[in-house]
Amino acid sequence: MTTSANIHAVEITGLSRKFGSKLALNQLSLQVRRGRVFGLVGANGAGKTTLIQHLLGRLKAQSGSVRVFGFDPVAEPVAVLGRTGYLSEHRDLPGWMRVDELLRYTKAFYPQWDPAYAEELRRQFGLDPRAKIKTLSRGENAKAGLLIALAYRPELLLLDEPSSGLDPVVRRDILEAIIRTVADEGRTVFFSSHLLEEVERVADDLAMMFNGQVVLAGTVDEVKENHHRLVLRFDSPQLSAPKVQGVLSLTGSGQEWTAICNGQREQAVAAAARAGGRVVAESSPSLDEIFVAWAGAESA
Ligand code: ATP
Repeated sequence: MTTSANIHAVEITGLSRKFGSKLALNQLSLQVRRGRVFGLVGANGAGKTTLIQHLLGRLKAQSGSVRVFGFDPVAEPVAVLGRTGYLSEHRDLPGWMRVDELLRYTKAFYPQWDPAYAEELRRQFGLDPRAKIKTLSRGENAKAGLLIALAYRPELLLLDEPSSGLDPVVRRDILEAIIRTVADEGRTVFFSSHLLEEVERVADDLAMMFNGQVVLAGTVDEVKENHHRLVLRFDSPQLSAPKVQGVLSLTGSGQEWTAICNGQREQAVAAAARAGGRVVAESSPSLDEIFVAWAGAESA
């Protein structure tokens, strides 16, 4: 029987979370398909870490529901945590342990720990087994955290800002290769990131979050295809951004302005014409431009 839990590694419905008067998650719904690389993108404070903490059962849903492989992470932590490898944003590893001790310690929790794979990753990451965790550089610390999240080959790899602290070479050669390998093996990767070009390169699907809500979700290709960049020319110089209904953002000066719009291109072109602008060039915006346009629209 095909159920939602067979299809979705993560299913969140109407999740809300308040910290005092701060609404960190606001009726958020999200689905992540199994076997996909999913990128969660959001500005600082959008609620990404709060969402991830719910997936791990470290926060209990105040309203709404959270399911990981069909299980409630608070009611059935073993079912969820036994299938999930997690790299925290703060890389909170025990500083007094040596790298080899960290591996032995973590192995004890997971019957499916793969020692050969752990050793392969340790060498690939260039980590000295005798080095104390507290003496590792930020990047080495991130690699150690990634190693222990991966070495028991979890069904779901949950990475909170995995790139932070990693230099561009490590990010590209190691992190991205690992993410692809995990997905190619039919497992699921869920990662949060500020780096839109990284999400564009490695993710199959993405969601953009602002103010505790998902404003946009889909495959990376769908999101890109649904947005347009139009360069508009006006007959006379405009002192401030002209009002063009339905566009997310409008930047420029004088007679030439660039609009990023979502949805029907024809409607945006017609709205621009009503405002006195004609399209002189158009192209596909990058995810970065789409994100910035949404950020501006959400804070307006
Ligand atoms: P960043 O990209 O900066 O890591 P984020 O998207 O992960 O941000 P969260 O850390 O989930 O955002 O925070 C969402 C909001 O909830 C923020 O306004 C934050 O200050 C608030 N918040 C998160 N945890 C707590 C807490 N334990 N107590 C009070 N407020 C909190």
